[in-house]
Amino acid sequence: MTQPINTPLTAHVNLLSPPDYQRYVDSGGFVGAKNALAMNQSDCLGQVKDSELKGRGGAGFPTGMKWSFVPMGDGAPERKYLICNADEMEPGTFKDRLLLEGNPLQLVEAMLIASYTIGANQAFIFLRGEYHLAAQRIQAAIDEVKSQGWLGNNIQGSGYQLELYLHTSAGRYICGEETALINALEGRRANPRAKPPFPQVSGLFGKPTIVNNVETLCNLPHIFAHGGQWFKELSGDSDAGTKIYGASGRLKNPGLWEMPFGKTLREVLYLNAGGLQDGLKFRGLLPGGASTDFLVEQHLDVAMDYDSIAKAGSRLGTAGLIVLDDHNCPVGMVRNLLQFFAQESCGFCTPCRDGTPWAVELLTRIEHGHGTMQDIDALDRLCDFMWIGKTHCALAPGAVEPLRSALKYFRDDFVEHVEKGCCAIAQGKRPGTLGLTGQRLTNAADTHAQQGASHDGK
Ligand code: SF4
Repeated sequence: MTQPINTPLTAHVNLLSPPDYQRYVDSGGFVGAKNALAMNQSDCLGQVKDSELKGRGGAGFPTGMKWSFVPMGDGAPERKYLICNADEMEPGTFKDRLLLEGNPLQLVEAMLIASYTIGANQAFIFLRGEYHLAAQRIQAAIDEVKSQGWLGNNIQGSGYQLELYLHTSAGRYICGEETALINALEGRRANPRAKPPFPQVSGLFGKPTIVNNVETLCNLPHIFAHGGQWFKELSGDSDAGTKIYGASGRLKNPGLWEMPFGKTLREVLYLNAGGLQDGLKFRGLLPGGASTDFLVEQHLDVAMDYDSIAKAGSRLGTAGLIVLDDHNCPVGMVRNLLQFFAQESCGFCTPCRDGTPWAVELLTRIEHGHGTMQDIDALDRLCDFMWIGKTHCALAPGAVEPLRSALKYFRDDFVEHVEKGCCAIAQGKRPGTLGLTGQRLTNAADTHAQQGASHDGK
C-alpha cells in the first residue's frame, strides 16, 4: 500500500497526463474504489460523513449530508444518477482544469465510489465545452478504466454495474448551477429550476440525482484509501482535507497550490503568489472567484476557510483570488465582471435579466466620465434589487457581490470618476488597466500545481 501524502489531489498531476492506468495503480490508484466495493452503501456513506468533506464548488455544503438526502432502501427509486459538475467557467477560477487534464483517472475512480455509495448505475461528467484537452483525456481514461473492469457490468466481480458518460456543455455559465445543468443534460433550455424538489429527490429525468464539483469528488479515492480521520487531520483545526487555492492578477507568481485549509490570504498572496509585480501596490481581492465580495488590506490575515472568510464579509467560493492593484481601476474591473454576468444571465427573472445590463450601463457611464452621483446611488439600489431572495437563482446575487463591496471599499474611485470625469489611472498618473476578459488559462496539465501555474490574466 502506498503511503498517504499531504497533497493528495495534485501529487500525481504531472505524472499521469495523459492518463496512464498502470502508473495510476502503482501510485495507489483504485485502492479507495476496492475498499468502497468491499463495504455496504450505508458504511460508505458513513465514511464520507466521518471525513467531514465539504463541497468545493463554492457553497461548502457537507457532502455526506447532501448524499444522505437520496432515498435508499425499500421503496427508493431504482434509477438514480450522479453528475460531476465540470462546467468551470467563472472568471478567475481554473482549479478544476488542473484535475481534469492532469489526473482524469482520479476523477473516474471518484465517480465510481460516489455512484456506488448513492446506488447510481449511470453517471455523467458535464464538462465545459472549451476544455478540449480535458475532454480527450477524460474519454481516454473512461475507456481505459472500462477495459480494466472498473466500469460496466459486474465491476471487479462485485455485482455492481456503472456506465459513465462524458457530456460537453454547449457553453453557458448558468449550466454550472446544478438544476440548470440538469435541464441542459435533458436537452432543455438551461434555466435553473425552482427548489424544492431538490435534485437529491427529483433531479435528472425526475430521479434522485447528486451533482458534485470535480474537486469535491476527487477527494473520495483518498478518503476511502486512508480513512476519514486522516482526511480531517490534513488541515488541523480548520475545515477537513486540503484546498486548491488559486491567484490571478498582476502577481509575480500567479498559479494554483494545494494546501491545508486555514492558510491566510496574506500567505497565499505573498508566499505562494510572490506578491504584486514591481511598482504595484495591493488594493483588494476577490477571495473566491468573480462572484464574491472584495476584501482589503485589513483582511489579509484572515484564514482561507469557509467560516473565517464569511465572518470577514465575503465567501471562500472557489478559493481563486483575483487581485486588484493600484494601477487598475476598480470601476472598470467591476464593469468588466458585470458585463460577463449580464451576458451569461439566462433571462428567466426580471431582476437579473434587466438588472445586470442596467448595472453595466451605469458603470460604463461612470467609467467614461458621464456619470452622476445619482448613478452611484442607483447602483446601490440595484445591488439591493438583485440580492438573495429576490431572484430565481444565485447568479444575480453573486454578480452584485463584487459591485456592492467595491461601492463600500472603493467608493472614492466612483466619486472621482463623477467629479473629475476620469480617475488617476485614466489621467496617466497610474498607467495601465487590467481587463478580466480574454484571460489566458494555464495549460494545467503541463504545470505542476505546487510550482504555480502561469495565469497572467492579461
Ligand atoms: Fe436566470 Fe439570472 Fe434569474 Fe438566475 S438570477 S434564473 S441566471 S435570470
